[in-house]
Amino acid sequence: MVSLRFYAELNDFIAVDRRQRDFALACAADVPLRHLIESCGVPHTEVALILVNGAPAAFDQRLCAGDRVAVYPVFVSFAIRPPLPAARFVADAHLGALARLLRLAGFDTRYDNRLGDREIEQIAAREGRVVLTRDRDLLKRRAIVHGCHVHARQADEQLREIVARLDLAGSVQPFSRCLVCNARLLPVTRALVEDALPERVRERLHAFQRCSGCARIYWQGSHWRRLRERLQRVLAAATPATPAAPAAAPADPAAATAAAAQPAATSGSGTFDGACATSRTSRGTR
Ligand SMILES: [Zn+2]
Repeated sequence: MVSLRFYAELNDFIAVDRRQRDFALACAADVPLRHLIESCGVPHTEVALILVNGAPAAFDQRLCAGDRVAVYPVFVSFAIRPPLPAARFVADAHLGALARLLRLAGFDTRYDNRLGDREIEQIAAREGRVVLTRDRDLLKRRAIVHGCHVHARQADEQLREIVARLDLAGSVQPFSRCLVCNARLLPVTRALVEDALPERVRERLHAFQRCSGCARIYWQGSHWRRLRERLQRVLAAATPATPAAPAAAPADPAAATAAAAQPAATSGSGTFDGACATSRTSRGTR
């Protein structure tokens, strides 16, 4: 038998009668810590620090009878796994709205509601992406190194949670990525896109961007302003000590240019007030 205790929000994952207290667990010899922790319901991606008899331990450590194990949650660091390579994500099928908000904030986010758990695991491993999900079993998959169990249910709250947990406020580049396909937006002259613009846009606006993936045209309009305000609210909540939200003052000058763009969706979608430019349009996801 060994003794375990989970701290702080890790208690949300475990049985009620094991919360906020030490409990005994039968543990076969040669079972790695990671397996033991996950058998209690806690995905390894949510764990930042493990102490065995007071000393830091790795996921593959084996235990001896009588060991005392303390398991602490992720705050902002990944102390027992390799450093996070970049803020790149793959979101599971239930997090479409969050994926869109992450793209709005400029984060490279793969999303396709047809992806199964195995494909998400493979994409995360191959492309070094952080898995975002509310499914703890997905986070237990072996090849997933970085992941976030998203606790919030509403998309704005979910974005706030991710930005705060991974300390991303300084990396936000609003309106630099296509909300539909995730590709980069590039500045484009009005002359090149004029034919595809509604008359009211053609007359009033001067700065445009085109998606490098699906060729949608984006410009600044009323919906863009609403999105900008929404993003500012979320980021302000994620970084209460920061007076100026990054959405208002992007670190990257290119993002400032990008911020002058409003996404144009396919007509009739009702999502954006714009027009879709083109023959290269690809619906859906990447
Ligand atoms: Zn696109």
